[in-house]
Amino acid sequence: MGRSDQRDSSAVMPPLLALVDCNNFYVSCERVFRPDLIGKPVMVLSNNDGCVVARSKEVKDLGIKMGVPVFQVQQLINQHQIQLFSSNYTLYADMSARVMATLEAFAPSMEVYSIDEAFLDLTGVCQQDAVAYGQRIRKAVVRATGIPVCVGMGPTKTLAKLANFAAKKWHPSF
Ligand SMILES: [Mg+2]
Repeated sequence: MGRSDQRDSSAVMPPLLALVDCNNFYVSCERVFRPDLIGKPVMVLSNNDGCVVARSKEVKDLGIKMGVPVFQVQQLINQHQIQLFSSNYTLYADMSARVMATLEAFAPSMEVYSIDEAFLDLTGVCQQDAVAYGQRIRKAVVRATGIPVCVGMGPTKTLAKLANFAAKKWHPSF
C-alpha cells in the first residue's frame, strides 16, 4: 500500500490516539540499574535532595505526596526503609530517548509530550486490535529499555490521556 493509499484509508477512519506514559519514570530509570529495588519503596529527590520528585507505587501507597520536603517524611523513610536517589537528569534524558526511539516504530506520527510521555497517532494502524496493539507497545518498551509504561487510547488526546490515567489507577501492580 502506497503512502497516498494510507492517507486515503485514514481519512475515512475515526481518529485513534494513544498516550504512552512511563510509570513512575525517574524511579523506573533507577530500577533499571538496581533491579533488586523492584517492588521496594523508592523515591527520587530534587537537585539538592530537598524534595520528593518521584515516588514508586509503594511510596505512593504510604501517602507520601509529590514535592514534599524530605524532612517532613523522614520518619516514614526510616520506618519503611525507603531507598533514596538524587535525581540524575542525564540518565533520565538518555532513558527517555530510548523509550521514544522504541515508540517511533509503532506509529507513522508521534508527538513527544514530555520526558516520559508521547502521543502516537494510530489512526488506521490498529483499529481492529487496539488492545492487543497497546500490549505489544508495552512489551516492546519494557523489553528494549526496562521501563514499564501504560498505554491509553481514545479518539482525542484528552480521552487518550484519561484512558491512560484509568489504566494506571486500576492496574494493581503500577
Ligand atoms: Mg509518567
